[in-house]
Amino acid sequence: MTDAARHLVSLSFDDGFRASSIRTAEIFERRGLAASFNVIATGHHADFSSPDAYQDAIEKGDFGLWRDLAERGHEIMPHGYRHANKGELPFAEARDLVERCLEVFAAELPAFRAEEAVLGLPYNAASDELAAWLPSVVRAYRVGGDGINDMPDATLVRLSSTVFGPRNGNEAHFFAKIDELTARESGWLVYLLHGLGEEGYGPVSEDFLEEMLDALCEIDSVDLVTPARALARA
Ligand SMILES: [Zn+2]
Repeated sequence: MTDAARHLVSLSFDDGFRASSIRTAEIFERRGLAASFNVIATGHHADFSSPDAYQDAIEKGDFGLWRDLAERGHEIMPHGYRHANKGELPFAEARDLVERCLEVFAAELPAFRAEEAVLGLPYNAASDELAAWLPSVVRAYRVGGDGINDMPDATLVRLSSTVFGPRNGNEAHFFAKIDELTARESGWLVYLLHGLGEEGYGPVSEDFLEEMLDALCEIDSVDLVTPARALARA
C-alpha cells in the first residue's frame, strides 16, 4: 500500500475453475500483481456436485494447483466446504461446514492461517447467527452488498462485495463502481468475479480483465490489493 492510496480495490475470483484460475494468475503476474481466489474445499473431488448445476461441467482446480499459485504469491482463500448457501442452513450445520472447510485448508495449504483468512461465503450469504460466530474463527467474511467498505482497520470483519451476473456484461458495472469509489474521500471496493471466457457466473473476457487491471494501475489514488493482505496491513 502506498502512502498516496486513498482507495483500495480487491478483485476476488470465486469457485476455483481450473483453466480460468491459471489464466487469471498469469494475467496478474504479467503486471507484477497478486490475484485472490476463493476456492471450494471439496470442489476438486470426483463426486463434488454444486448446488449450481451449471458448475458441474466446469473442471475445478485441486490443492496442487492452489499450493503452486500460493507459492507464486497469490492468495488462496476458502469458499465453503461444498458451496452450500449458509443463509439458509441451520446454524449448527453451517458452523460444521465452515469448520470442516477450514480444516481442509489448514491441512492442504502450508501457509494458511484461519485467523488471517477471509471467508468468501457462497452466494454471499450468512444467517445472523453464523455471521456473529464467524469472527471467532476467521479474520473476516465476505457477504453481498454495494461492495464499498471503509478502509480496513482492526474492527472490520464483515466485507461487503458486489458482483455482476449471471451473464457477461460486467464492463459498465465495474467502471461505475470504480467511479463510485473514487468519488469518495476514501474506501475499499471488493469486486467479485468468477471465471474467464464462458466459465461461471458473470464471466469476463481475458481482454476485459487486462483492461480492468490496466485501468486500476492508471489511477494514482488506487491500490489493487488482495483482501487478506489489505486486512493484515491495517
Ligand atoms: Zn461460489
